[in-house]
Amino acid sequence: MICNSSFLSYAMKSDFSYPAGHISYRLHIHVRKDIRIVAGALGSCNFTAGDYVYTGSARRNLAARIKRHLSDNKKLRWHIDYLLADPNVDIIGVDTSHIPECQWNQQLSGGIPVSGFGASDCRKRCGAHLKSLPA
Ligand SMILES: [Zn+2]
Repeated sequence: MICNSSFLSYAMKSDFSYPAGHISYRLHIHVRKDIRIVAGALGSCNFTAGDYVYTGSARRNLAARIKRHLSDNKKLRWHIDYLLADPNVDIIGVDTSHIPECQWNQQLSGGIPVSGFGASDCRKRCGAHLKSLPA
């Protein structure tokens, strides 16, 4: 995992590289205080302060997708965009993998803070593609 205090500036300035064949990514997210957001059609969602992991995929150009998540300058589209737009929310690291996103997501033990979050396209009954980690 790439994870350090200057991660964000590093990732934005350089070409984000990942091994060939990787199709999935994880965003390691820190929520600094209890917040309430409105995540598009999902409506109002509460998040307690703590750490979360979002698992997604991009068949082509994983780097561009990750850079989009790191950018503050974008139209809000996915549930995760609304969470990341909150000033109390930071991406603290990114992983990539060859494991398909749902399988990788299900391998991670954690709670489901908001049912259906990030799982609009999920066909594997994950419940959500955002998980909360134990404190
Ligand atoms: Zn899934």
